[in-house]
Amino acid sequence: MSNRARLPAFAVALAALALSVGASDDGISGAVASPCISSAIALGQELQGETRLPHVLIVATGGTIASRAGSPENLSGYSVADTGEDLVAAVPAISDVARVTVEQYSNVPSTALAPADWVRIAQLINGALEPQEEGPFGDVDGVVVTHGTDALEETAFFLNLTVRSEKPVVVVGAMRPASAISADGPLNLLNAIRVAAHPSSRDRGAMVVLNQEINAARDATKANTRMVQTFAARGLGVLGVVDGDRPVYYRGTERRHTHGSEFDVLVLEPENLPRVDISYTYAGSDGTDVDAFVANGARGIVVATAGAGATTRGQSAALRRAFEAGVIVARSSRTGSGRVGSGRSRGGSVSADDLNPQKARILLMLALTITENPGEIQRIFNTY
Ligand code: ASP
Repeated sequence: MSNRARLPAFAVALAALALSVGASDDGISGAVASPCISSAIALGQELQGETRLPHVLIVATGGTIASRAGSPENLSGYSVADTGEDLVAAVPAISDVARVTVEQYSNVPSTALAPADWVRIAQLINGALEPQEEGPFGDVDGVVVTHGTDALEETAFFLNLTVRSEKPVVVVGAMRPASAISADGPLNLLNAIRVAAHPSSRDRGAMVVLNQEINAARDATKANTRMVQTFAARGLGVLGVVDGDRPVYYRGTERRHTHGSEFDVLVLEPENLPRVDISYTYAGSDGTDVDAFVANGARGIVVATAGAGATTRGQSAALRRAFEAGVIVARSSRTGSGRVGSGRSRGGSVSADDLNPQKARILLMLALTITENPGEIQRIFNTY
C-alpha cells in the first residue's frame, strides 16, 4: 500500500492527538487539552506567485525554543508558551528563504514525548513528503521539526531510520528560551529552514541544526546541560556548517538511513513498539534492574557498559538469565564515544557499535519489529 493510500488513517490518528502542555525547564507544569491539533497555516501563501521558493513543513512540538520566562535574564525557569506560528512570525527573514506551513503536533518539553510520538511524527512526515497535489500540505521540499533539546537526539535518530525520502529532515531546538537575552532559537530556526530548503541537503539522513552546526542525527548527542554549542558528534565531527545564508557540507552520512531504510513506520501501531530498556553498568551493579525489566515485558535490553563492553559479575548473570528467557541484549558504552567491538560473543549479546545507549535502544526497538534473530540484529547494528 502506498503512503498516500495510508494517509487518511494517520490523519485521523493525528486528529486525536490534541495536546498542549505547559512546561518548565525541569518538567511538565500543567496540561491543557487543545481542540485543534491540525491548525496548519500556509504563511507563504501570499508568495504563491513566486513558486520558486521551496516549501518547508515545520512540525512544532515544543521545547525551550518555544518557551518564555518572566524576564530576559532568566535562562532556566521557563514554560512552553509559543506556537510554531509564533516562532515563524518572530523571524521575518524566513519569507526570503521558503514558503512554510506549520503543523502544531504538540507543545511540550521533549521528555513528555514518548516512542508512540516518534511513530506518529514519522508517519506525519512520510505522508507529507509523498508527492501529492491534494495532500494535507501540498508538495513539500523539506521538513523542520522544532523540539526540546533534552530528548531531541532520540526523535531525530528515529526519523533518520524511518522517513523514507531523500528530502531533508532537520530537527532544531534552542538552549535559551524565546524571551532570553541573546535567545538562540530565532537564528537556529532560520538556519534549520535554510538547510531544509537547500538542494545540497538531500540524501544526508535526518540532521540536527543548532549553533550554526549541522550534525548527523545518527551521531549527534546533547553534550552540555546549558551551553548553546551543546550538540556534538563526538569523535566524528559535524557534517557541515551554516555559513551566511546557506549550508556548506564537508562530509556525508555513510550508514544506511531514510530512503534506504528497511523499517516501515507506516505499518507500526504507535503504542506497540517493542519494549526495550537500558541497564547502566556501575561498580557493584547487581542486575536488579535487568530482572525487573524482564519481569515487566522487555523484549530487548541495551547495556550502557563500562568501557568497550564490560559489565559487573552480578549484571552479567542477570543478562544471561534475560538472554535465556529470549530477550535480546545489546552492548553499548557509557563512555560517550567509541565502538563496542563485534564478532565476540559475550553471553549471546550483540554489539551496538558506536551508538550511545539511548540511540541503540531505538535501533533495537525497530529491529525487533522485523526480527528476533540475534545474527540479523547484529547485521542491523552494523548497517545503520
Ligand atoms: N526542557 C527542554 C526540553 O524540552 C530543554 C530544551 O529544549 O533545551 O527538552
